[in-house]
Amino acid sequence: MNVRLLAHTPNPDAVVAASARICYSDITSGELLKGEEEKLSGKLIANLFTSGHLSTFEHVSFTFGIDGLSRVASHQLVRHRIASFSQQSQRYVKMDDDVVVPPSVQANPEALRIFQEQAESAHNAYKVLTEMGIPKEDARFILPHGHATNLVMSMNARELHHFFRLRLCRRAQWEIHELARQMLILVREKAPVLFAKAGPSCIFGKCEEAKSCNQPYKDMEDLLLD
Ligand SMILES: Cc1cc2nc3c(=O)[nH]c(=O)nc-3n(C[C@H](O)[C@H](O)[C@H](O)COP(=O)(O)OP(=O)(O)OC[C@H]3O[C@@H](n4cnc5c(N)ncnc54)[C@H](O)[C@@H]3O)c2cc1C
Repeated sequence: MNVRLLAHTPNPDAVVAASARICYSDITSGELLKGEEEKLSGKLIANLFTSGHLSTFEHVSFTFGIDGLSRVASHQLVRHRIASFSQQSQRYVKMDDDVVVPPSVQANPEALRIFQEQAESAHNAYKVLTEMGIPKEDARFILPHGHATNLVMSMNARELHHFFRLRLCRRAQWEIHELARQMLILVREKAPVLFAKAGPSCIFGKCEEAKSCNQPYKDMEDLLLD
């Protein structure tokens, strides 16, 4: 999997802080951003977060390029309705034999042999069907669920916090967990204040999962190095 941050709202921390300040001051929007970066303290954004004043987080957006994610994981990803997606089309693009191999399969030589044999068989069938003139949109039905896909996805900071809370939980599926981990590293470089406290509920001291893993993350470093 390859995850890149393609674009983002400039000065995300300052834009969120400025959007909060307009609620409590008599300045006009033209003056809002002046000196905001110098004024910026983590306290304002932390207060917004804990008080639930989260419309302020919606003013900044992040766009990711994600290559080599399985369709298993992308199916879970697109359940996040507040995000925007553009995904490689299997109707128009001829598929290669790129399939994501789960670590449990990779670690077991016999499982890996079976997995690769079946994936190769499915990809061969796809190739033969397309050569027979079957449209790509129909031949793709035979492809493995783990077939790799590429997509572009945008989320605002509020949705990102929600996404990180759900998908960085140790009980989330491993591939979407790894995607979320890489995304968090990328956004923290651009908006360290906004994402200073992002992640699963255990990192805030209280697990909200019905079935806890009983292995809470100790701190942000523990989470990002996982
Ligand atoms: C560990 C785990 C296991 C899961 N297992 C399954 C499973 O077995 N089967 C399955 O089908 N799904 C499963 N899911 C997916 C889950 O049910 C959600 O669809 C997914 O996590 C997206 O979350 P969301 O709806 O909160 O977020 P988003 O779609 O990103 O929405 C963000 C928030 O916006 C609000 N919102 C968005 N749309 C609406 C709406 N229409 N009405 C009201 N409020 C809205 C809600 O507050 C929501 O939390 C699982 C998710 C996780 C994390």
